[in-house]
Amino acid sequence: MERGLYIVPTPIGNLGDITHRALETLAAVTLIAAEDTRHSKKLLAHYGIETPLWAYHDHSSDTATQQLLARMASGDSVALISDAGTPLVSDPGFRLVRSAQDSGIRVFPLPGPCAAVTALSGAGLPTDRFFFEGFLPAKSAARRHRLESLAHQSGTLVIYEAPHRIAATLGDAVAILGEGREAVLARELSKSFETIRRGALGELLAWVTEDVNQQRGEQVLLLGPVADAVEPVVLSGKDRALLFRLAEELPPRKAAAIVADLSGLRTRDLYKMLTERDKN
Ligand code: SAM
Repeated sequence: MERGLYIVPTPIGNLGDITHRALETLAAVTLIAAEDTRHSKKLLAHYGIETPLWAYHDHSSDTATQQLLARMASGDSVALISDAGTPLVSDPGFRLVRSAQDSGIRVFPLPGPCAAVTALSGAGLPTDRFFFEGFLPAKSAARRHRLESLAHQSGTLVIYEAPHRIAATLGDAVAILGEGREAVLARELSKSFETIRRGALGELLAWVTEDVNQQRGEQVLLLGPVADAVEPVVLSGKDRALLFRLAEELPPRKAAAIVADLSGLRTRDLYKMLTERDKN
């Protein structure tokens, strides 16, 4: 197998959720760098994979990173896995991937399970744009502060949360975003007690408060986009001049469509700019 660093996603609950390529890679590499080797041993044993494991987490010293890089430089292939899902997504690996790239070692990221994407695909919230926040701060004041800065995101927000904090986080979300904001709690995805519930934030808070079972297990909290999110349209001086000049010659929608093509902005925002100017 080609030498390099293979980023291998592993199941987030259901052991069946691992690709053929992931299993082939784990069996073929020289070494598997894992966040928690005891945890990963169980997965590997389940699939009869006997590749040696090496403990690697974000606190691993530079020496550990250098040793892995040296092994790859001398021809070894290394797979990086985390306890669950895709490495580097709220999991270790960033420093290793970057160092490998900087050392000229090829990085092969394999597609596979990720709780954020799984939750998003089953939530019933808009998916055309989403923002992955990962874990919010553990302390309420800092968490509220962060939620304030996220309040006007125009896409769906994806948040990871620990079971013992989910009620407190929902409480803070209600306080900052209002009880009416549409949200989804996706719990224990791919496992026996998988639950996906969509409702207003206030309803979800009441539900997890009344039924403590809903606070158990792994959780993804998704917050729907603000209904009337207004994103500032930032148009360069040149594009702005072009828009207004074209609008002198063409119908406004046509002018807006041409500048949208050139600037990457949305036709409807540019059209609105033109029509609102006409009102003033
Ligand atoms: N790297 C992982 C991924 O690709 O999703 C995430 C690792 S992060 C340390 C763990 C968090 O992911 C959990 O606290 C939870 O928010 C979320 N998570 C992981 N597995 C999950 C599952 N089966 N159901 C719901 N959320 C899950």
